[in-house]
Amino acid sequence: METLICQSCGWPFVPANAGTNRDKSVNTDYCRDCYKDGAFVDKSLNLHQLEIKLLEMAEVQEDISLEEARQLIKKLPELKRWRMDNI
Ligand SMILES: [Zn+2]
Repeated sequence: METLICQSCGWPFVPANAGTNRDKSVNTDYCRDCYKDGAFVDKSLNLHQLEIKLLEMAEVQEDISLEEARQLIKKLPELKRWRMDNI
């Protein structure tokens, strides 16, 4: 199955877990946990908080190692939500 990378949290997701636009159409830029009904679920989230969240997730989840989480964090500034021109 096709795997997408969420442009907010950097996490891989399948299209079935994609976010939704205001008109309920699918937004494949973001996962469902980040983007719902045309808005970010956690609007106040910043890059630093996201980094901490990812490291915490890596500690409890077996499908991602701490090293993988660090690699992910390095790439976060390249994602659509976090590019400088969007802030
Ligand atoms: Zn996401």
